[in-house]
Order: sequence, then structure tokens, then C-alpha cells
Amino acid sequence: MTSISGSRKLHCLIYCSRQKIAPADLDYEVGAIIQTSTRNNRDAAITGLLLVHDGWFLQALEGPYEPVMTTYRRILQDPRHESSTVLSAGPAQARAFGDWSMCARRMSPADDAILDTLQVRQAFAPATFSANSALRLLTAVRGIQARTEATALI
Ligand code: FAD
Repeated sequence: MTSISGSRKLHCLIYCSRQKIAPADLDYEVGAIIQTSTRNNRDAAITGLLLVHDGWFLQALEGPYEPVMTTYRRILQDPRHESSTVLSAGPAQARAFGDWSMCARRMSPADDAILDTLQVRQAFAPATFSANSALRLLTAVRGIQARTEATALI
């Protein structure tokens, strides 16, 4: 976990895409994506969160404009997903995911309450999310992740 506090000319991009990974390979591939992302994003002062759920990826990337766009263009070429849709892109006042160069979370049954609260469990269709609801979901997941990490330290 890398803490990056700088917020100079921050840009935030949120997109979703369809997974193109066999279910049996998902854990391994997400692990590989996180390993690469943590290294690359730290070097580029990018922070963010990747939600892996129900055949979808939903990811926030935040950092200086050029590195965020360069990273997103590279991600677009990745054969492990398809049909990427940008849900939100623009300047940000502060980092929402500043604790993580990249953090991934797979929603578990224990996390279902959060999807219920956000009214997205029945029809998880991130491509239809507004910018606000995508950010709300990722921010809620950030909260779960932070609590999980805190519990793991006890
Ligand atoms: P390496 O990791 O060394 O990979 C070299 C090349 O092999 C790349 O072209 C890569 O796309 C390809 N490759 C690697 N593993 C596989 C595989 N299992 N199947 C097919 N091709 C493969 N990268 C980031 O840097 N930051 C991110 O935040 C980030 N988020 C991602 C989110 C999603 C949903 C996905 C699918 C990928 C994400 N990636 C991210 C990975 C990104 O798409 C590139 O693979 C990675 O940035 C390339 O890093 P690298 O140049 O260090 O090459």
C-alpha cells in the first residue's frame, strides 16, 4: 500500500468493462493485474480502485492528467476485458483512493448489503451508471476495503 498525498492538477477517470477471463483464471489474472498496476501506478503517481464483480470491472484512476490517460489507453489494449465505457472523466479536488496505488476488491456475499443499499445488486449494470452512482459505489467499496484491512491488522 502506497500513500500518495499530492493533489496537484488531479484528474479522475472512472470506466467499466466486461471481463474476458475464464472464471477459473479470475483470481490469478486479477492478482497479476494488481501486481503490475501497483508497480506502474506508483511510478506514475496514480491511485485508484478496481472492483471485480459479476463479469464486470469498474475502475477509478486518479492522478495527473497525462499519466491517467496514458494508463487508460494501455488498459484499453488489454485482451482480458472488452467494451470499456468511460462513466466519468474530469478534474478532481482531492484523491478519493489515495491509500492505494491500485487496490482490487471482489464483492463477496458478505458485501451484498452495500449493493442493496446502493440498489445495484439486482441489476449490476455499471455501463448504465451515472458518474455519481459509479463514484458512490467505488467510495462505498473503499470503505469496506479500509475496514477489512484494519481488521486484518488487529
Ligand atoms: P507487463 O505486465 O509486463 O505485460 C506485458 C504485456 O503483456 C502487456 O501488453 C500486457 O497487456 C500483456 N499481458 C500481461 N499479462 C497478460 C495476460 N494474462 N493475458 C494477456 N495479455 C497479458 N495496468 C496499470 O499499469 N495500471 C492499472 O491501473 C491497470 N488496471 C487494469 C485494469 C484492468 C481491468 C485490466 C484488464 C488491466 C489493467 N492494467 C493496469 C494492466 C494493463 O492493461 C497492462 O497489462 C499493463 O499496464 C502493462 O504493464 P507493463 O507494460 O508493465 O507490462
